[in-house]
Amino acid sequence: MDFKVIELEREPIDFDLELAPGAVDLGDMAQQQGPLAASGQAEVLHEHRGPKDIVADIRLKGSFSGIFQVPCARCVEPVEIPLEGSYDLIFRPLGADADAPERSITADEAEIGYYQEDSLALEDVLREQVLLSLPVRTLCKPDCKGLCPRCGADRNSQPCNCTGDDPRWEALAGLRSRIESKEKSPQS
Ligand SMILES: [Zn+2]
Ligand SMILES: [Zn+2]
Repeated sequence: MDFKVIELEREPIDFDLELAPGAVDLGDMAQQQGPLAASGQAEVLHEHRGPKDIVADIRLKGSFSGIFQVPCARCVEPVEIPLEGSYDLIFRPLGADADAPERSITADEAEIGYYQEDSLALEDVLREQVLLSLPVRTLCKPDCKGLCPRCGADRNSQPCNCTGDDPRWEALAGLRSRIESKEKSPQS
């Protein structure tokens, strides 16, 4: 669903819909299970920067809820998690701040986004909101045993033949994962 500035100028638009899985592209981070409910209101807010300099911002306010699958951080088995959230966001036209470097973004404005081509896609907003509300680390159960660092077996379901009790292997595996996480550049 696209909110066009020209339509919002006439009147605010209320929405209440269910998006099918796939409508919102979540990449590899999560998979949507069943419909994603989204409702709220879009409206235009005019920023008067000068007598002839009026910027049409889109304000999008609403909520979403749905069920998603994310991989367990230890054994990568899919874990179902219900998510819901609400948002109240401002979007400026892309480029509105480009020629105004003196307009530094204040803390209040940190949440400001940008829209392009005179319209804002609800799906893009929901994608970001869903990804932001995903837990940083999901476990299928608190005591998930994870994958064997040596043979890759899921130790929840199949005890492998590796001598996992050997403390030297544990130390080595720990060292390796520390080195690997150091080598990975910080991800944004
Ligand atoms: Zn697990
Ligand atoms: Zn093993």
